[in-house]
Amino acid sequence: MIDTKDISTMELKDLKNVLKTVKDKRMELVIKLGELVHFQLLNKTLNPDELTEISFEIASQDRLMYRYGKQITYMNAASQQCSKCLQQLVENAKFCGNCGTLNPTYVDPNTVYKSCGSCSEEIHETALFCPCCGMKQGEI
Ligand SMILES: [Zn+2]
Ligand SMILES: [Zn+2]
Repeated sequence: MIDTKDISTMELKDLKNVLKTVKDKRMELVIKLGELVHFQLLNKTLNPDELTEISFEIASQDRLMYRYGKQITYMNAASQQCSKCLQQLVENAKFCGNCGTLNPTYVDPNTVYKSCGSCSEEIHETALFCPCCGMKQGEI
């Protein structure tokens, strides 16, 4: 199991490999869950507890996929070119200095972050739902 705190020090190609492993693992779990539901329905022994356990495992793979995906986007942005004219962009520029195309990975430095109560991912303070785990965020 890889500690998600270490992902910021990983190389892009390693990150992509790990992301693929997580995706495969998730697919395995989804199939396992499907088989189990099928088996339990067939035998009329539906056991929600056993199923929920696998669902939680799938959800944790989802969170990993989100984090790796985010890190990959971030690393791609570090060696950034304009998607339209391929001009090299200034770091975290909002628009391309050559053709004015919006930089899709631009991050507003004034954005306030909070931590999701469910998965503890850093999310926008104003987010209504966590983009990582889908949990509805409580009103303050
Ligand atoms: Zn451009
Ligand atoms: Zn979350």
